Amino acid sequence: MKYTHEKLNEHITRITDIAGVACYLVEGSKRACLLDTCCGYGDLKEYVRTLTDQAVFVILTHGHYDHTGSAALFDEVYMNQKDLPVLENHNRRRLFFFEEDQKSIPALKEITFEMINPLLEKIPSEIKDTQMFDLGNIHIKMIEVPGHTPGMMCPYIPELKTIFFGDACGTSVLLHEETSTDVSTYKNSLIRLKQMEDQYDVIYRNHGSYTNDKQLLDNVMECCDMILHHRDDHHPTIMYGKTIYETIERINGKRKDGKEGNILYASEKAG
Ligand SMILES: [Zn+2]
Repeated sequence: MKYTHEKLNEHITRITDIAGVACYLVEGSKRACLLDTCCGYGDLKEYVRTLTDQAVFVILTHGHYDHTGSAALFDEVYMNQKDLPVLENHNRRRLFFFEEDQKSIPALKEITFEMINPLLEKIPSEIKDTQMFDLGNIHIKMIEVPGHTPGMMCPYIPELKTIFFGDACGTSVLLHEETSTDVSTYKNSLIRLKQMEDQYDVIYRNHGSYTNDKQLLDNVMECCDMILHHRDDHHPTIMYGKTIYETIERINGKRKDGKEGNILYASEKAG
């Protein structure tokens, strides 16, 4: 179970696991931070050790298994505690997610559930909205953006004019779980990201193309309005055995109009 990496600039390295999920190693002059920890398929701590000599702590952007999967390997782990119920839920359903991943990732068919990394059982240290982490010559500021999960956070590096949208805003934003917020709350989070738009030039995410231009944010905001005004396609699709709805109908996973940015939501989140 191998990881690969790509150095994006002097400070940031993208690490990708066999499921295609990315996390980011951010190195300052004093210490390094790992933003998320992928799915837990392979020894991420050992892999990170080949990339940096610095002490590494972990920030989790939210509590989903594909971001917290290797966090238990590290001593110093932070997460917004509004996501503790999300973490607990995904820990409890970890075998189900593993079996779902096995269906689409050939390399996972050769391993058993016992071979993946242990679950994060200890409670991570708290992160509050606007909290700053000092890495030396660069800082990470945490922006709370509830939606995908109640405690979703976007890390932002002012010195590099870089923000990590993570799962907060992407090509198929999921508002699909009981713990996801409704669309109105989510729209307010996007307005916050829009208000600070002149403070960042680079956007990174953990899935798919891993990056995008600023148009994506406008397109996802437009999706919120379509849902709130009942003008969306409301096209049903099945995710993890549950029927949810595509704001704009997708064909082969992409919006039928060719644009990027979509919301997949449970019907009770539409308000
Ligand atoms: Zn997620």
